[in-house]
Amino acid sequence: MKTMKRVLIVASMAFMAVMLYQWGHVDEREGKSSGIISEAIAAESPPKASPVKARARDFYAPNSEDLGPDEMRVIACGTGMPTSRPGQAASCWLLELGNGDKFIFDIGTGSGERIAALQIPYNYLDKVFLSHLHTDHFGDLDALFVGGALSGRQKPLRVWGPSGDTPERGTKYALDHLYKALTWDLDGRAGITDPRGYQPFEVTEFDYKGVNEIIYQENGVTIRSIPAIHSLDGPVSFIVEWNGLKFVFGGDTYPNKWYAKYAKDADLAIHECFIAVPDLITKFKFTPQGALSVGTQIHTAPEAFGKMMSIIKPRMAVAYHFFNDFDTSGPINDRIRKTYDGPLSLAKDYMVWNITKDDIRVRMAIYDEAVWPPPPTEKPQVPDPKLRIPYSDFIVDGKYDMKDVIQPTYDEINKKYGLKEKQD
Ligand SMILES: [Zn+2]
Ligand SMILES: [Zn+2]
Repeated sequence: MKTMKRVLIVASMAFMAVMLYQWGHVDEREGKSSGIISEAIAAESPPKASPVKARARDFYAPNSEDLGPDEMRVIACGTGMPTSRPGQAASCWLLELGNGDKFIFDIGTGSGERIAALQIPYNYLDKVFLSHLHTDHFGDLDALFVGGALSGRQKPLRVWGPSGDTPERGTKYALDHLYKALTWDLDGRAGITDPRGYQPFEVTEFDYKGVNEIIYQENGVTIRSIPAIHSLDGPVSFIVEWNGLKFVFGGDTYPNKWYAKYAKDADLAIHECFIAVPDLITKFKFTPQGALSVGTQIHTAPEAFGKMMSIIKPRMAVAYHFFNDFDTSGPINDRIRKTYDGPLSLAKDYMVWNITKDDIRVRMAIYDEAVWPPPPTEKPQVPDPKLRIPYSDFIVDGKYDMKDVIQPTYDEINKKYGLKEKQD
């Protein structure tokens, strides 16, 4: 940044001195061409090139960088809409702290595969905070729950979420029933897989009307919630404080006074920013009435997002909850810039922010499409076959005899690992 500023200052002085048309004018003191702009660039140290050494990368490759003890890393694992699409899953944000803690804020539809792409052992991904119970904010909870347990989470999944104005509209009700909906899935895994990750969700339901009240405090990390205004009573936003850094994750909301007050001076402030109304009508096929209502009253319009950021003045503002395309990001940026001129990221899936007290670095993650589960952090527990729920005689009778072709695989594995396993 400093380099650019210096170049710009030199360039502006040049403009004033020689007028616009006199590039490379003759210096009156030395009588030779000064080539003002190129001189300024030439004064910078040359970039370090080498035919044999690697250069610093300008992207984030999962599982390739240590996190500093004072550093916070945030990765967008979903930034879009309820209709998830290949380029954008619905709301999901991973927060990683230099003390080793990791938190998932929202786990919207389609975000599970983004989490998988980051190659983080699932035992470290056991804490989820839900801003509200729209599927674009918790639609992949079942994927993380079951897929995570299958891939190395050896403990229950902990979930924090708001109450509702009735018990049926609260997080506990939703998750109790989600667990019940998974009865067939979970029964079918009994006695086959390590059972520890499949225990019922450990739900902490907190009062959605709590204003900046602590809902989590462990290991030097404090998380508070503030109410949000969206669809029904219940939605919230979260404020995380750790090691002198402040991270704010705003759930869906009409701009509200609690965010304006408690998100102030955040290092990273995420807030929803909806598709501009004209694009909601022409591209998202909303009716004009629906676009006005949803785009400005149920959610936050880009101009309103900008106004909110001008109030709270974060070190970095992050806008999400819109389809971020070449033809929509321009209008959204223009509208935000009517009311806000500070640092801004228009979020895309796999955008990465590294935050320290001195710096905020924004990059994109480059990931492996063919990623496999990372190693478990603890030894897997061998399941108890006695817990297996048997097939009926009717289904057993339908088995085609494959014993002869499968036996060589048993022989191979028993020999390699010193086992005495037998076919069912
Ligand atoms: Zn919502
Ligand atoms: Zn939403």
